[in-house]
Amino acid sequence: MSTNHPNQHPQPCPHRAHVLCLSGHDPSGGAGIQADIEALASIGCHALPVITALTCQDTHNVAAVSPQDPDWVERCVRTLAADMPIHAIKLGMLGSAAMAERVARLAAELQQPLIIDPVLRAGGGSALSDDALLLVLRQSLLPAAHVITPNLPEAQRLAGLDSHASADQCAKVLLQLTPAVLITGAHDQTDAVINRLYQRDGSQQQWSCTRLPGDYHGSGCTLAAHLAGLLAQGIALPVACEQALQLTWHSLLNADQAGRGQWLPRRIRPEQSAC
Ligand code: PLP
Repeated sequence: MSTNHPNQHPQPCPHRAHVLCLSGHDPSGGAGIQADIEALASIGCHALPVITALTCQDTHNVAAVSPQDPDWVERCVRTLAADMPIHAIKLGMLGSAAMAERVARLAAELQQPLIIDPVLRAGGGSALSDDALLLVLRQSLLPAAHVITPNLPEAQRLAGLDSHASADQCAKVLLQLTPAVLITGAHDQTDAVINRLYQRDGSQQQWSCTRLPGDYHGSGCTLAAHLAGLLAQGIALPVACEQALQLTWHSLLNADQAGRGQWLPRRIRPEQSAC
């Protein structure tokens, strides 16, 4: 007679969806790779976290960035890809143009849905990418993406438009480079936050949510990670966008004021919400 040890599964667990996350590390825990891991875990996915850059920062702003070695990142990605399935790839802060080029080559080999959060600036205002990185994003990464998730200022910069350009105007330019763009509206002046999905086939959806009062750190990372996880689970893009936006809104609603600056999202399921 066999008895099951409490730590032994009689059968292997069904696979969680695996999301390869290429992101920076934020020691405040609000943004970057920690945001990815927490957001993905909250929806039952497994993050494969590969760090592209280290940052020194608090809840106010970024003090320093140390881009990591592209050879090391490539070695990590190849080691993982040889060992286990990867169901989606999520890109956050890349840290250097050399890293972005390397990541573009790896993503082309892996052939999995690529979700890009084009991290250009920290919430506190510091630049997190230079012109060379922006060029690689435009030329090599955006064309390979499944969807990109810029906020309005990021969409304006990626599209090469000024700060008066609307989401519609940005999308018109960006859809020449990439098949789908989810432009978030928290930086817009509207009462409610309006988030818009544009796809190259001409379809367009928008979702509005109540504007929350805080100033948050890591909201973009949280959204893109939720979206990558839902897409990795096989959910169709418009539905995944709607769910990822709702999950992110709940993470912000439950945010902590951990330090003296921006609030940090708490990435929990809505049913666990304290608010
Ligand atoms: N990734 C890292 C490592 C960061 O440090 C930051 C911002 O400081 C971001 C991403 C972008 O954060 P957000 O989601 O607030 O745009």
